[in-house]
Amino acid sequence: MRFYKAENYKMINLRDLNTKELGEYMNSIGEKSFRAKQVFEWLSKGADSFDEMTNLSKDLRERLKAAEAGGEITLGHINILKKQESRTDGTVKYLFGLSEGAACGTGEADEVAVESVFMKYKYGNSICVSSQAGCRMGCAFCASTLGGLTRNLTPGEILMQVIGAERDTGEKISHIVIMGTGEPFDNYENIVKFINLVHDPAGLGLSMRNITVSTCGLVPKIAEFAKDLPQVNLAVSLHAPNGELRSRLMPINKSWPIDRLIAACRGYTEVTHRRITFEYALIDGVNDSIAQADELSTLLKGLLCHVNLIPLNRVSETGFAGSTKEQVAAFLARLTERGITATVRRELGSDIDAACGQLRLTHRGKM
Ligand code: SAH
Repeated sequence: MRFYKAENYKMINLRDLNTKELGEYMNSIGEKSFRAKQVFEWLSKGADSFDEMTNLSKDLRERLKAAEAGGEITLGHINILKKQESRTDGTVKYLFGLSEGAACGTGEADEVAVESVFMKYKYGNSICVSSQAGCRMGCAFCASTLGGLTRNLTPGEILMQVIGAERDTGEKISHIVIMGTGEPFDNYENIVKFINLVHDPAGLGLSMRNITVSTCGLVPKIAEFAKDLPQVNLAVSLHAPNGELRSRLMPINKSWPIDRLIAACRGYTEVTHRRITFEYALIDGVNDSIAQADELSTLLKGLLCHVNLIPLNRVSETGFAGSTKEQVAAFLARLTERGITATVRRELGSDIDAACGQLRLTHRGKM
């Protein structure tokens, strides 16, 4: 049997499989492939047990339950370890526990904790999901990288964050940003598969255009992404207008320098004709001067892009602080003056605002 990366797997997480692979699994147990679509639909609706899958024959349900009990397959479970809810705007931060990765052959850790954030916008509900448990990119201002990388998440584990939040809130999610813990391009194959899973009309049926991937700049993956998923939005974390400062803030710049990154971004816009979002976290006294706004506008001149300014969330371990409101406004005004489209990210859930990655960080000691 050859299922998704099955050579490493002791157990198959059905939520890692697309309908074709589920069909192969169904065939392997003597069932017709069309059952796969039914199971896939149930899994996407958030079914947590085979008993809920009422359009399957009782016999099939029993056999699937036996395979589950025998440790051959799992439905992919997720549990809420911690939850913080905003009283003002409906934002919910989750710390989810995922416990099947080890059995599915993905890594050493038995249970990992990952953060996801559910947000309400005028255009619909959005979720920010994690792509890895931890991160090895080492950005100087970021909480998610402090404990290093524990392991990659599988496509099903990323999907479970979406399904888990839908189940808990009772709301449909129409937009996904892969901007939680982890570097998506460091877990590229699983991200591509996850996106195809949520796009499948038999599942959540999300539009590719409602999905955004954020990268710290793994340059070779940008062209691949343009080819594999040209309709998915790309966000690039820039945070500095030149290589010298960027290398100090983001070690990835030493492997993939800013000039090569910008060149790859230009290539991306030429292939996809799509606007890139550059994220720029404003750090007090570090990257927020008017001279740096000028340098940034020169760097991005003529590039089909949008700059998203984010006042840095303070992470006490890093020693960096966010820019003042005045400095943010001045930086924005200067970019605009220089012909660069920029906005300041609207802050949601400010009453529950522990900086990104901090729920997980405070929980790590307990796992
Ligand atoms: N690794 C990917 C995606 C995860 S990080 C990336 O780097 O893009 C998501 C975004 O949050 C990135 O732009 C990251 O630089 C930013 N970020 C990290 N720590 C932050 C902080 N303390 N305050 C504001 N933004 C932060």
